[in-house]
Amino acid sequence: MTATVPTSRVSTLVVTAVEQPTDRVRVLHLAAPDGGVLPGYSPGANLQINAGGKWNSYSLTGLGIAPSEYSVGVLDQGRGSRWIHGNLAVGSEVEVRGPENAFAPDLSGRRVFLVAGGIGVTPIVAYARAAVFHGWDLEVVYSHSAPEDAFAAELRELTTTAGGRFTEVGHRDELTAVLTDRL
Ligand SMILES: Cc1cc2nc3c(=O)[nH]c(=O)nc-3n(C[C@H](O)[C@H](O)[C@H](O)COP(=O)(O)OP(=O)(O)OC[C@H]3O[C@@H](n4cnc5c(N)ncnc54)[C@H](O)[C@@H]3O)c2cc1C
Repeated sequence: MTATVPTSRVSTLVVTAVEQPTDRVRVLHLAAPDGGVLPGYSPGANLQINAGGKWNSYSLTGLGIAPSEYSVGVLDQGRGSRWIHGNLAVGSEVEVRGPENAFAPDLSGRRVFLVAGGIGVTPIVAYARAAVFHGWDLEVVYSHSAPEDAFAAELRELTTTAGGRFTEVGHRDELTAVLTDRL
């Protein structure tokens, strides 16, 4: 989905690092030009990025408390994401709006069961980080096609740190079986 009407003011960030965990996913780390602390955010928040004139939303994967950088994972799939893959490198400047959040957690909860599919895993990474931080009981199920496991290692480590259970599935039937078992 694409945000067609950006709602908050534009600022300029600098790309400080780029990783490529899979063929089609790039992780960008963005910081303020002066290296200062960026506005905080809660899990599920997203940043709008000016992707060559097209404003696209990307979920922030960090904890969001007094962040010195924002991290996003971008799947190469269309005009804007392809522009990000092809044009943003370390040292590039990029216009952003936000963060904004329409997917904030219920902080009264103590137990978190997270189900992620494909590139939709990105906000789940932020949620898993928050679960570790707050000491919530954590279970994560991550459904992805074989090579597109961009955040599997990180999620496994977060879940293990929380003493929780991490399950990867590769097919819809497997996912249905796991969800039927758990729910
Ligand atoms: C809150 C939120 C969070 C998000 N978080 C993430 C995230 O963390 N990571 C992420 O990668 N994405 C995320 N997205 C999706 C992201 O905002 C973009 O929608 C995504 O990158 C695709 O945009 P695009 O400009 O690359 O593709 P577009 O050009 O908008 O195309 C979208 C899809 O349509 C297809 N398409 C385009 N033109 C045609 C055509 N003529 N015929 C047939 N098919 C066509 C493209 O192949 C593509 O699959 C998020 C979206 C929202 C709303």
